[in-house]
Amino acid sequence: MSLDGTYDDANIFALILQGKIPATKIYEDESTFSFLDIMPQTRGHALVISKWSKARNLLEMEDEALAQVMATVKKVATAIRKAIHPDGIQIAQLNGAPAGQTIFHLHVHILPRWEGDAKGFAGHGHGVQADRAQLEALANEIRAQL
Ligand code: AMP
Repeated sequence: MSLDGTYDDANIFALILQGKIPATKIYEDESTFSFLDIMPQTRGHALVISKWSKARNLLEMEDEALAQVMATVKKVATAIRKAIHPDGIQIAQLNGAPAGQTIFHLHVHILPRWEGDAKGFAGHGHGVQADRAQLEALANEIRAQL
């Protein structure tokens, strides 16, 4: 899907927000939701989404929703830092399929990074499917730092 198109109410992140498919929640407030990526590219790879905006990408997003999402990115990244002590934290956000976007509900990636790791953002399909119990244990560690 290019930058132009229609929001699909049945996209995976919309289904997570509707409670129709599970997610490993880290944080939630009135306007945003954060959870661990199911195919993490690094340990602690998390995502943040808006609960109300139907923006598929950054160019469509309301300034208010964007500010809410980024405030949660900062909050969750800070908790991740305290919990698992990365050397760096990469923030990534993809717009349109040619840019690597695969789920068309705006989301921001938080990727903890360690010295010596491969650099760059591999994109969808390069992570390894995580074990749900392990993700839940990690989410517990991060939640404890919020
Ligand atoms: P993007 O390529 O920016 O659209 O990223 C989509 C991300 O969503 C990828 O990193 C996927 O691993 C992740 N993902 C896909 N399905 C789920 C899911 N059910 N729960 C958590 N993360 C998911």
